[in-house]
Amino acid sequence: MSSLGGQPILILKEGSQRTRGRDAQSGNIAAAKAVASAVRTTLGPKGMDKMLVDTIGDVVITNDGVTILKEMDIEHPAAKMMVEIAKTQDDEVGDGTTTAVVIAGELLKRAEDLLEQDVHPTVIAHGYRMAADKAQDILKDIAIDVKPDDMVLLRKIADTAMTGKGAEAAKDKLTELVVKAITMVADADGTVDTQFVKVEKKVGGSIEDSEIVEGMIIDKERVHPAMPRVVADAKILLLNAAVEFKKTEVDAEISITSPDQLQMFLDEEERMIKGIVDKVVASGANVLFCQKGIDDIAQHYLAKAGIFAVRRVKKSDMEKLARATSAAVVSSIDAIAPEELGKACSVEEKKVSGEEMIFVTGCENPKAVSMIIRGGTEHVVDELDRAMEDALRVVSVAVEDKKFVAGGGAPEIELSLRLREYAASVGGRAQLAIEAFANALEIIPRTLAENAGLDPIDMLVALRASHEKGGADAKYMGLDVLNAASGNMLAAGVVEPLRVKTQAVSSAAEAAVMILRIDDVIAASKSAG
Ligand code: ADP
Repeated sequence: MSSLGGQPILILKEGSQRTRGRDAQSGNIAAAKAVASAVRTTLGPKGMDKMLVDTIGDVVITNDGVTILKEMDIEHPAAKMMVEIAKTQDDEVGDGTTTAVVIAGELLKRAEDLLEQDVHPTVIAHGYRMAADKAQDILKDIAIDVKPDDMVLLRKIADTAMTGKGAEAAKDKLTELVVKAITMVADADGTVDTQFVKVEKKVGGSIEDSEIVEGMIIDKERVHPAMPRVVADAKILLLNAAVEFKKTEVDAEISITSPDQLQMFLDEEERMIKGIVDKVVASGANVLFCQKGIDDIAQHYLAKAGIFAVRRVKKSDMEKLARATSAAVVSSIDAIAPEELGKACSVEEKKVSGEEMIFVTGCENPKAVSMIIRGGTEHVVDELDRAMEDALRVVSVAVEDKKFVAGGGAPEIELSLRLREYAASVGGRAQLAIEAFANALEIIPRTLAENAGLDPIDMLVALRASHEKGGADAKYMGLDVLNAASGNMLAAGVVEPLRVKTQAVSSAAEAAVMILRIDDVIAASKSAG
């Protein structure tokens, strides 16, 4: 509202809310900090889990930053921007989501102190950007090369990503599966598409029973017990059309007045379905995966023809099957033809935890790999699945980028140290912002210590001292949470892909800068909308 000659001029719809200047900044910063503090306690191997209950009472128990934030019903626009950081981090690297959000929260907290000292938000934003750019260079400088065939190192990377995510019990087994799967799907040039690795969850059995299968696993069973349980040298037809009698498009009533007519009607139905099955047989297929239904009569004829048939296969599974077996997904009965079929050495139905699953092995494309993750309860399996997804992503990122850094807060301490030196070389007001950025990064080792029940101040002092001392290993000194001491993180096997850190720092800085630059929040009235 402004006024002209005493007459107020309204430019916004009635009911709109507007906050400006410091009020807008404090509101946004407070909201963003609240999000960061919500996930802070989950950071690191000793981080706690959260139990999230949705409106219909479904429970998710997790330690995964992005899952927590996605499940929380967040409304504040600045808080939503923090959730976006976690999502971006998850999309780009698959891990480090909590780290990114916690750093962003701390950057904003430090910015608030500067605002109180009357440093202008654009000066802070500028300094933060400079610091974020410099941080990228420093991280690249301290990164170490990954040899893509260094299984021991890759397993350590998988291990670090999985720590604290409910996978402790069988980490040896799981990291082995992850690294095996990624090396199997990696291209010669190092690119990895984790889409090729299919993870199937199965409640029952123990984590130790989890296994990897070269090929595809489909959580389905064949439609008729008379069909073969195993088909060797499989010729696979993928069909996205119903193997059923065509229902009339319009509501038509067929009046049948005599038993003969009824028989004729049924015969016709059977003849039509048999026609479809004949087409499948004629194509040379001995396995049929159908995305739609297969009715009783069709099941009978398919079984009689010795075809292994599965119905209502998920679309995503059809796509993966197509890739794995080099088949085309045929979307009409008339298009069924021998050249559309795919190949696999064997298609077999097997019992896993008392339930049938279909194994398609020896696929034409050897890059298809599946894993069955098993665990005692649904919550355990779900959290394991998330841990495996993270581990698969980080190992693939390490194989792709061929660079890794130490974990346990070591890179953050090193960054903080070198950024402070950089700040001094910059001078002026920007120096204050770069120093604030440097100090903010210490939130990671500090939180790791806090969550492990250690004294954060003592730990920070010790870590700073060991980094300042210099020497070849100084930059790898971090907080070995499991042994409650500072130590060389490379030796402790706590390692992460470089991209986890570069992405976390850059997206945290970007979000903090974006939130800082807002000095006017205009919210439309909800009821009026
Ligand atoms: P994020 O969602 O950010 O990945 P995590 O809860 O997985 O959060 O914690 C990751 C942090 O924990 C990283 O800084 C990593 O280096 C550290 N970390 C993992 N394992 C250990 C360990 N054994 N000792 C110390 N720090 C560890």
